[in-house]
Amino acid sequence: PVESTARVATHRVLIVEDEPDIRDLLVFHLERDGYQVAQARSGADALRQAQTSPPDLVLLDLMLPEMDGLEVCRRLRQNPVTQGIPIVMLTARGDEVDRVLGLEMGADDYVVKPFSPRELMARVRAVLRRTRPAPGTAPLTVGRLSIDPAAHIVTVADVPVSLTRREFDLLRALVESRGRVLSREYLLDHVWGYTAAEEIESRTVDVHVRRLRQKLGVEGQRIGTVTGVGYRLEGDA
Ligand code: CA
Repeated sequence: PVESTARVATHRVLIVEDEPDIRDLLVFHLERDGYQVAQARSGADALRQAQTSPPDLVLLDLMLPEMDGLEVCRRLRQNPVTQGIPIVMLTARGDEVDRVLGLEMGADDYVVKPFSPRELMARVRAVLRRTRPAPGTAPLTVGRLSIDPAAHIVTVADVPVSLTRREFDLLRALVESRGRVLSREYLLDHVWGYTAAEEIESRTVDVHVRRLRQKLGVEGQRIGTVTGVGYRLEGDA
C-alpha cells in the first residue's frame, strides 16, 4: 500500500516521439527530475497508452509518421478519458501554423526544437503546476468532502467517515484527478498495484466504488460512472 501511494504521488509523463535520440534525451531529463516516464513511438501507440493508463502530462512531438501530432492532440481531447490531460507540444522551428493549430486543438504549451532541456523542464513543471496542484499530503477538499492524506481521515460535512485502506486510496486517486475519468485499469494499477486487468479484477474496482459511494452519502454522488471506461469524481465547477 505504501508503494502504491508513492506512485500516485509521482507525476507520470508520456513521451510521444518517433526519433530514438530525442526520445532518449527526453527520458533522461525527465527521469533525472523525478518523473515517471512512459514512451510511445507512434500516435496510435500514444492513444492506446493514454487510454489504459492516463499520464499526468503528454509531451507530444508534432512530426510523427502515419498519424501526426495534431491528430493525436485532437483525439486526446475528444476522448473523455484523456481530454483533461495537459499536452506540451514539440514543434519544429518556423512551424508557426502547427503551433497555432496545436494550441487551438487544446495543447497547453509548446517548445520549439531544438530545445534546451532546461527550458523544456521548466515548461513541463509550469504546465503541471497550472493544471493540477502538486499531489502531496495537504488536505484535499471537494464540496463537503475532505481528505487528509497525512492523518488518513475522511470527513463529509465535518463528520468522519470510516474507510478501509483501499477505499481511502481509491477516493484519494479520484479526488487527486477530479474532473478526469480514471479507467478501471488505471485504478487497478495505482490503487491495487496490479499490472494486468482481468475481468474479475475490474469488478473489484466496481465493488469498491459502490461501497465508497454508500459510505460518502450525498457526496458519494460525485463519483460518476463512465460506461465502459471507468469513474470520474466531479469537482465543484
Ligand atoms: Ca518526430
